[in-house]
Amino acid sequence: MRKVTVFGSTGSIGENTVDLIARAPDQYDVVALTGGRNISRLAEQAIALDADVAVTAFDECYVDLKAALSGTKIEVTAGQNAVAEAADRHADLFMSAIVGAAGLVPGLRALRHGSTLALANKESLVTAGPHLMAEAAKHKATILPVDSEHSAVFQALVGEDTSAVERVIITASGGAFRDWPMEKLAQATIAQASSHPNWNMGQRITIDSASMFNKAMELIETKEFFGFSPEQIETIVHPESLIHALVGFNDGALMAHIGPHDMRHAIGYALNWPDRSHLPVERLDLAKIASLNFQHADETRYPALRIAKEVMDNGGLSGAAFNAAKEAALDAFLASEIGFLDMAQLVDEVLSALEGENSLGCDIVTLDKVLETDHLARKTARELVKKIAAR
Ligand code: NAD
Ligand code: MG
Repeated sequence: MRKVTVFGSTGSIGENTVDLIARAPDQYDVVALTGGRNISRLAEQAIALDADVAVTAFDECYVDLKAALSGTKIEVTAGQNAVAEAADRHADLFMSAIVGAAGLVPGLRALRHGSTLALANKESLVTAGPHLMAEAAKHKATILPVDSEHSAVFQALVGEDTSAVERVIITASGGAFRDWPMEKLAQATIAQASSHPNWNMGQRITIDSASMFNKAMELIETKEFFGFSPEQIETIVHPESLIHALVGFNDGALMAHIGPHDMRHAIGYALNWPDRSHLPVERLDLAKIASLNFQHADETRYPALRIAKEVMDNGGLSGAAFNAAKEAALDAFLASEIGFLDMAQLVDEVLSALEGENSLGCDIVTLDKVLETDHLARKTARELVKKIAAR
């Protein structure tokens, strides 16, 4: 039996993970499930999977969770610290599926116990990539990518010598607005940005897909996790989203990973790694699909891609500032304070302001410096939001 903990079990990745675990009850022993405010669902999952402990990230939800689990032996804890403390209970594998920078500390804590971290939370690598990788190496812990593109690259690299890799191509669906004329984008609404043409995901990542900030994060993740140089990492728009990534080798071979739009593939690969096991995902009918299309990813249309390159080139604390600014920009868009295109503008301005203050250079990225930069970038972003809203 593999002992498993799921951080963010009530989200989109969390639910898919819970689904796979529930289908194989004799293979998994669930230690902790953590969630946010969806208490009834968290309690339901904890009972169904017979977890040792259920954790809500919010103190004020403790009473409700305790009531929902009364009469069971399941322990209840609450608060951001309690989420991180769930990493101290031994598990063989931790699924990191919290959304946003809040996912960083619990994942790091699991790595410090030398555990295996299945990493869906892309903010961890974007904000603190060098620190995360160094901690994993120091504690002989393993990180398995769960983002579909990175799982695809990881799978294409099995048995390969990474020094023979020339390039990595990450595909992008183009998001909700890929067929919209540029002029219309400024007026895009929250509802329009919240629907994805191919994938069913949480709202934040769906809007990040429409703005390509999601792809920008994935480019940075690729650099941080695999150690490729920014020049080796490309994006291409592939509207069908069936090829998740391609790895090009020095003999000209291009290995593509093709799979259905179902995160249970990447999640299941990580749960079963290093083995493969049967997964309940659709088997593709290639004759029915008939054709696959590709388009150049235009940096004028998608400024997030240009910003990602700058962040990769600058390194240091740029990723932490970039992520915090991007999260603050999305919060402001969701609060109808700024428009869709203002998000990239805001991120650009926050990065320039912090670079101007020399706040982003550093030789060794530590957790303290990351958290400090995150705080500073959010504060700068909030001040700039007021200015943008007043324009
Ligand atoms: P989601 O919004 O559906 O779920 C987020 C989970 O995090 C929920 O369980 C929520 O309760 C919890 N949470 C929210 N705020 C929290 C906080 N402050 N502290 C602790 N827990 C908190 O998100 P999602 O779409 O499942 O994405 C999760 C992560 O995986 C993100 O980093 C996302 O970028 C990444 N990812 C998602 C997909 C996908 O298909 N959804 C694909 C690739 C990568
Ligand atoms: Mg992805």
